[in-house]
Amino acid sequence: MIACSCEVCTSTDKKDNRLRSSILVQSATTTLVVDSGPDFRYQMLRQKIKSLDAILFTHPHKDHLAGLDDTRAFNFFTKKPMELYADSMTEEAIRREFYYAFSSTKYPGLPELNFNTITLEPFMVGDIEVTPIQVWHLKMPVLGFRFGKFTYITDANRIEENEKDKIKGSEVLVLNALRKQKHISHFSLEEAIDLSQELKVPTSYFTHISHQLGCHGDIENELPDGIHLAYDGLELNFS
Ligand SMILES: [Zn+2]
Ligand SMILES: [Zn+2]
Repeated sequence: MIACSCEVCTSTDKKDNRLRSSILVQSATTTLVVDSGPDFRYQMLRQKIKSLDAILFTHPHKDHLAGLDDTRAFNFFTKKPMELYADSMTEEAIRREFYYAFSSTKYPGLPELNFNTITLEPFMVGDIEVTPIQVWHLKMPVLGFRFGKFTYITDANRIEENEKDKIKGSEVLVLNALRKQKHISHFSLEEAIDLSQELKVPTSYFTHISHQLGCHGDIENELPDGIHLAYDGLELNFS
């Protein structure tokens, strides 16, 4: 966190050095990212991502879409617009916050963006099947996404029973866990552990972690079997 000198923010453990939450999902032929937060540009540079087919959005909060302008680098190389998959609430926010990209007078260097409106119906991005899962971020509906055996959920504090069914059977679940103290719109560490165990997912990784949670090494040691803290650059492979 900017201007903070707590033990997490001054830690020399790379796993305590966290950028905004996002994941990249890749098959043999398709690459997509979930959310383009303020760190999107640096994340793409750091991971040396040379091609990106689509961006899926969970919800319209700024820490999940502020980096969208930098998709223009991909536009430059592919000469194609970036395909965005968002529900109508998030599309409206993107059209408002990046209004210049949608104006009738185009000038060079604008990001080129093409919306694909999604609902709770499964959809395909290239050869990747995506199942949206609706979760609640206080009063805001947020989309989680299931890709085969892998489910990614961020910015939730509640999931309804019928949507929990969509997660069951996943081999790996990524779930948000902000800190130990309760929070109004994010799962706490204990709530995230309880939910992972309730859903009987063999392996869970927690993300969207605040510096208030404590150092990675300390918390990792306290977690039950099969539950871990995610960290920037973590890679998972599925056959
Ligand atoms: Zn949020
Ligand atoms: Zn967030």
